Amino acid sequence: MEILSIPIEKVKGVGAKRASALKDVEILTLGDLLYYRPRRYLDRTQVLPMARAPIGQEVTLIGQVRQTRFIPGPRPRFVMVVADETDDITCTFFQGGRYLQRNFAVDDELAISGKVDLFQGRRQMVHPEYEFILGEERLHTGVVVPLYTTSADMKERGLRSRGFRRLISGALDAFAEQIEDDLPASLRQRLGLEELGASLRQVHFPASLAEAERARQRLAFGELFTFQLRLARRKKNREQADGIAFAPSEKLVPALWDSLPFAPTRAQRRVGAEIAAQMQRPQVMNRLVQGDVGSGKTLVGLSAMLMAVENGYQAAMMAPTEILAEQHFFNIQALVAPLGLTVVFLKGGQRKVLREELLTAIASGAAHIAVGTHALIQEQVQFARLGLAVIDEQHRFGVVQRGVLYKKGAKPDLLVMTATPIPRTLALTLYGELDVSVIDELPPKRKPIRTALRGRERRPAIFEFAGDQVRQGRQVYVVYPLIEESEKADYKSAVEAYDELRHGPLAEFAVALLHGRMAAEEKTAVMEDFKQNRVQVLVCTTVVEVGVDVPNATVMIIEHAERFGLAQLHQLRGRVGRGGEQSFCILISYAHAGAELADSRERLQTMERTQDGFEIAEKDLQLRGPGEFLGVRQAGMPAFKAADLVADGDLLQSARAEAMRIVASE
Ligand code: ADP
Ligand code: MG
Repeated sequence: MEILSIPIEKVKGVGAKRASALKDVEILTLGDLLYYRPRRYLDRTQVLPMARAPIGQEVTLIGQVRQTRFIPGPRPRFVMVVADETDDITCTFFQGGRYLQRNFAVDDELAISGKVDLFQGRRQMVHPEYEFILGEERLHTGVVVPLYTTSADMKERGLRSRGFRRLISGALDAFAEQIEDDLPASLRQRLGLEELGASLRQVHFPASLAEAERARQRLAFGELFTFQLRLARRKKNREQADGIAFAPSEKLVPALWDSLPFAPTRAQRRVGAEIAAQMQRPQVMNRLVQGDVGSGKTLVGLSAMLMAVENGYQAAMMAPTEILAEQHFFNIQALVAPLGLTVVFLKGGQRKVLREELLTAIASGAAHIAVGTHALIQEQVQFARLGLAVIDEQHRFGVVQRGVLYKKGAKPDLLVMTATPIPRTLALTLYGELDVSVIDELPPKRKPIRTALRGRERRPAIFEFAGDQVRQGRQVYVVYPLIEESEKADYKSAVEAYDELRHGPLAEFAVALLHGRMAAEEKTAVMEDFKQNRVQVLVCTTVVEVGVDVPNATVMIIEHAERFGLAQLHQLRGRVGRGGEQSFCILISYAHAGAELADSRERLQTMERTQDGFEIAEKDLQLRGPGEFLGVRQAGMPAFKAADLVADGDLLQSARAEAMRIVASE
């Protein structure tokens, strides 16, 4: 077994109790322990003598405890005097006094960090961060001391920072030699990188902060390289698998494009050609089409499907929501029925008789195209000859579901489409095994959407404006946060708002309600009415977030905009601006003060500033970090320990290039 995978109990100094405490911070193996990075470092070269500690600034000081005292009374507190050769300082704690009194003893050597202020003419720090640094061992007296995040349980088992340092140092002494390197020696030499064992030691016990960061980058590079190597091998294997070599489409695709009321953009043509070229090759295709909301991905996907059909195969398109799947079904049917093709629609909850009929059509090959939700990947669905699977809004599906549709055919080609622009570093991580086509152009004559951020007090004027737009023949979305959460305090749920708006400010218009809890037929009927402009104002939850396409809608009003994430806001705004008319997006914020306001303001102002999906995605990634950004749905996302996908973009690129080079030569 690889030495880093041995259970943590095998490490000297870890018994059953400590092992269970270490599990709190997800340390289960030796590798977890060695990759557990210091929360920060205490750089003693930066430590000031107390006499020179400036008032009002954050500093780190080192000294010995001279005196400790618990002061009861109306404001009970624990105070402790810490001194070095130059002066002393009082540390005051208003919380945890009794515990702290037991924690510190006179003569303990401490590093304290915090803001220095003056209290009754003396230097003081309130609630400083503290570390015990006294120790005979070299580890504790080095110039740069690592500080770790430890849980309460760990502290009780002697694993505050100091015990932790001893544990890690012992583990390094015992095992460092046996650690298998994660980089080939030749690569390491060429790039001038340290061995893994040495780098792990430097991360924990560096000679300088610069060395610590260099070592972290070395670990990050190793992680990224290992991951990219796996992706590159997977990609190569799949490319070697025999797939279908489709012939170019001579009838169906040209007929489809001729029938459109618009000219495809240059980007659509280019991506269409990239896909067609790859489908002609005998290897299995695995391609991602990235294109911002409204860039016209559907046409590109449908064209690929028709190429498969013309070659005598079936094609399938899967979408993450029923509303979107149904919209695709209606659109595709309208476009291909004149070409004599049969399209079926599969979703959950269909009547048994109908379902049997659809399944038979798919299994017999009578259905040329199947459109559906997750229902498409259920076991009972058997295709006669599936040649191409298209997955729309693929970020809404897990990696597993992607795989299942693929297995429904004998080596079908796979096309996944996503409107959520993903920053390049994440794309290379998540989709590193896919080829990528980008539709980087919007259809012409689209006017930029005017976006405005407003307070709730402006609602009357906003709805008056919406009414004006409706009078001019346009349509309006009013979006509310999810209905499940609506019980909370000042939430205005879609249902309540629906009643308010249709009896109040929008009384003269046809207003309808749409949310996830409505029956499927009801949803379909409402969407259809909206599409036909029989409904002028659609009050809804985020069920319309992805894919919904009604070009005549020009106003998107988002209530409680402060509750939405950037990606969601961008998707929602993408529902308008799809026709030639000027469109508007109005973000109504209910945040009045404090953290919520500060937190949401940056997001909402980003929305006001830009409409560029990639810029918004970068900002989103920065604000939320990669885990949150991708959400729980993105299973298959590796958890890197040293690498930071936001900051290490360059490292990732070079790790990827090296991995590709190695796999190409294998
Ligand atoms: P996406 O899925 O990329 O968000 P859609 O495929 O839904 O975008 O297309 C958005 C809208 O633009 C649809 O109404 C579609 O018919 C229209 N459309 C697509 N391509 C063009 C084009 N080249 N010119 C004008 N309109 C287009
Ligand atoms: Mg779409």
